[in-house]
Amino acid sequence: MSEPSAPVSSAIHRVCVIGAGTMGHGIAQVSAAAGAATVLFDIDADAVARGLAKVRANLDKGVARGKVTDATRAVALDRLRGSTALADAVSDADLVIEAVPELPALKRQIFADVAAHAPAGAILATNTSSIPLSRLVDAVPDAARFVGLHFFNPVHIQPLLEVVRAAETSERTLDAVLAFAASLGKDPIVVRDSPGFASSRLGLALGLEAMRMFEEGVASAADIDKAMTLGYRHPMGPLKLTDLVGLDVRLAIAETLAREIDPVRFAPPQVLRDLVAAGKLGKKSGEGFYTYEG
Ligand code: NAD
Repeated sequence: MSEPSAPVSSAIHRVCVIGAGTMGHGIAQVSAAAGAATVLFDIDADAVARGLAKVRANLDKGVARGKVTDATRAVALDRLRGSTALADAVSDADLVIEAVPELPALKRQIFADVAAHAPAGAILATNTSSIPLSRLVDAVPDAARFVGLHFFNPVHIQPLLEVVRAAETSERTLDAVLAFAASLGKDPIVVRDSPGFASSRLGLALGLEAMRMFEEGVASAADIDKAMTLGYRHPMGPLKLTDLVGLDVRLAIAETLAREIDPVRFAPPQVLRDLVAAGKLGKKSGEGFYTYEG
């Protein structure tokens, strides 16, 4: 699907985020708050409405806590809109960031659809947690404009942005997304394309071991987490973090890394499979390794 490289947009003023879930709404929020005209797209109109409502709630909470100014809140709400029409959503985008479920075939389909409607110079980015860009790149028309932008949850709070550079990603694309990261106030790392990059690979290794210890009855979920929060000064234990990320998301990442790196080291523990099969996806469903009220 390669064709001659169109000039990369040197500055990013218009952004479209594909997928309005846990990550998409947060990415749209920080993009709009930085002043970029931002469209939050999803195939599901309810997901768009929920995503926009969460952005508003995050901003309101930020203002109430003195973390967000009234002016930033106003800019973010003014610059953000929702859409369920892909052609319209990406038609003038300088940057399209995909944040749909961690399924290679779905992501490839999205990039093929986006490429049919986005401007020739647009940068196409994936928020995948684990899928090597090399497994997605032939779905985009110009690999030089393809890059990984791996945000962290919750996006409006976490400072890290893991920028994943595929073999084909151009210097101009990298410069443009690093400038965008700076405009969002994010602190980037640049990582060569490899399964799970730097963050997911290390984070998941700890998470899977914690799950295996939980399965073996080494300690309760709370005490396993406390070992890391009090003993190693982690801000959150690995099981609580799994609840926050989503057990389905972590299962998908484990399956990718088991396939791509090592089937034993990254084998999903049975407890993770069982909880996901029971619909216990963590905080977003009200129960995972912990239960949540409301
Ligand atoms: P999610 O399930 O919360 O949201 C996914 C959204 O994509 C849903 O709103 C769904 O309606 C939408 N969607 C599904 N098919 C679509 C399509 N064809 N077109 C448009 N929208 C579609 O998932 P999430 O947790 O936000 O994860 C999204 C991506 O971000 C995944 O690749 C995941 O690995 C990655 N990620 C997740 C986290 C995390 O903590 N949850 C952190 C970093 C990266």
